[in-house]
Amino acid sequence: MDLAKIKTDLKERAIAMGAGKVGVCRLDDLRDSFHFEIKQSAKRLNTAISVGVPLAAGVMETLIDRPNMIYKAHYQQVNHILNDIAFMIASEINRLGFDAIPIPASQILKWQPMRAHMSHREIACKAGLGWWGRNNLLITEEYGAQIRLVTVLTELELEPDHPTVQDCGECYACIDACPAGAIARDKTNFNLDACAAQVNEFAHLKHIGQHICGLCVKACPGTR
Ligand code: SF4
Ligand code: SF4
Repeated sequence: MDLAKIKTDLKERAIAMGAGKVGVCRLDDLRDSFHFEIKQSAKRLNTAISVGVPLAAGVMETLIDRPNMIYKAHYQQVNHILNDIAFMIASEINRLGFDAIPIPASQILKWQPMRAHMSHREIACKAGLGWWGRNNLLITEEYGAQIRLVTVLTELELEPDHPTVQDCGECYACIDACPAGAIARDKTNFNLDACAAQVNEFAHLKHIGQHICGLCVKACPGTR
């Protein structure tokens, strides 16, 4: 079996469906923090495929001081695309005779403390898509924080990619953009509770009804 060709094919198909970045990593100790629903199954799956779909810069430009309806629709659309790409990758791997689990792009299982099945950001960092930014998101060189993520876990042992050595450097643009004051100069001091409270407040806005914000994402456009 030509694993390099399979990796290239899956990547090209993901890009044709809207992905901007695709990478691979080994799970190793990342499994330790997985939600119990997938922890047992993940013991057999040693590889993660991370996929990022860029948000439209034009949509991000429409945000002023809160999420709006065009951003909400776009956010939902990108999540659908991510889940379709993850479904395609998992189906293709299944067709080859291997196990795979697509992890939903945006499924919060619990709000206090906030948790999902796993951290797409952690996987994406290890798979070389980008780095952990001051706003607690995955930051890529090209799209900044304007990229959303999905992950497929699999037993197919594809060649891993390498984490980047880049970081936010001397950029602090998102700090002032955050209405909750959640972002600090030291990324390890990110205030998750303040962010969650702000996003929860936005969810109560008329016509929003969803836990979204987008302001620190707008502040971080990348090089594109
Ligand atoms: S805006 Fe600058 S400091 Fe904030 S996450 Fe992006 S690169 Fe990092
Ligand atoms: S999502 Fe909103 S509240 Fe949370 S850190 Fe970014 S700007 Fe602040």
